[in-house]
Amino acid sequence: MLKLGFRLPLVALLFVSACGATKIAPAAPASATSDVTLDVPVVHRPAVEEIVTIMRRDLALPLPAQVRVFVYDSRASFRTGLIDEGYVAPDRVNEIASFAAGLARPGRVLLHSRAARGRTEWRRLIAHELTHVVEFGLAGGDGRADQWLAEGLAERVAFDVLERLGDDSLAERRTRALGGARKHPGFAAGRLDLAALGSPREFTLRHQRDGSLETYQLAFLTADYLVQRHGMNTVLDYFQNCREMDRDRAFSRTFGQSIQQFETEVLSHLHGLE
Ligand SMILES: [Zn+2]
Repeated sequence: MLKLGFRLPLVALLFVSACGATKIAPAAPASATSDVTLDVPVVHRPAVEEIVTIMRRDLALPLPAQVRVFVYDSRASFRTGLIDEGYVAPDRVNEIASFAAGLARPGRVLLHSRAARGRTEWRRLIAHELTHVVEFGLAGGDGRADQWLAEGLAERVAFDVLERLGDDSLAERRTRALGGARKHPGFAAGRLDLAALGSPREFTLRHQRDGSLETYQLAFLTADYLVQRHGMNTVLDYFQNCREMDRDRAFSRTFGQSIQQFETEVLSHLHGLE
């Protein structure tokens, strides 16, 4: 999941609320990008294909053979899509529709196009949610891996994609994220509580409580550290291990230390960058 932009301009908010009728871009015949079959509305196909190509060819990420991309252009239609295509429970749909710009499920992503401000944020949203599809494919479902790592890796991949598209740089994103992380109450107090942030529900509650931007930035820096230290393939192995064991064991098995030991190490690393 990716939260809404934080400075959604008033004009965009007004547009969304005035956009009563739900109009989904027409579906196009499935197209094949190498051996991944994409089912995506025709108007959004070039952007999605470009990102899928980078994720597979340059980053060697294993996208499933078939991916469906649903795009909604109003909050109302996104809300309906969350129920119909995202299998979100009716008692949670308003909460998710209020803060999320996208949602991923195994083999599919749901995107609210007007929640992403500008081309860079749109590309970031697509890459972020497609990374979750990769994670779910490896883990054998959603909610199996540590949520902070699933979100952090989705951000890491999205920023890498943006760098390759010439929109942004990973180095700049790290600098900005470190500035945001300093405002996170846990980081400032020397405690990330990664064990709790591993639970999807707890992650949602805490990013709403502790600051969405800061929580995602911290998740990005933490996942980025794992990628730099172990390499992307090992981080992908972690998701694969979640298929067969609970996430605590998968973490220890993959990275050779407990989540608590890792938390101490990554905190010291990040404080050293300040
Ligand atoms: Zn996400």
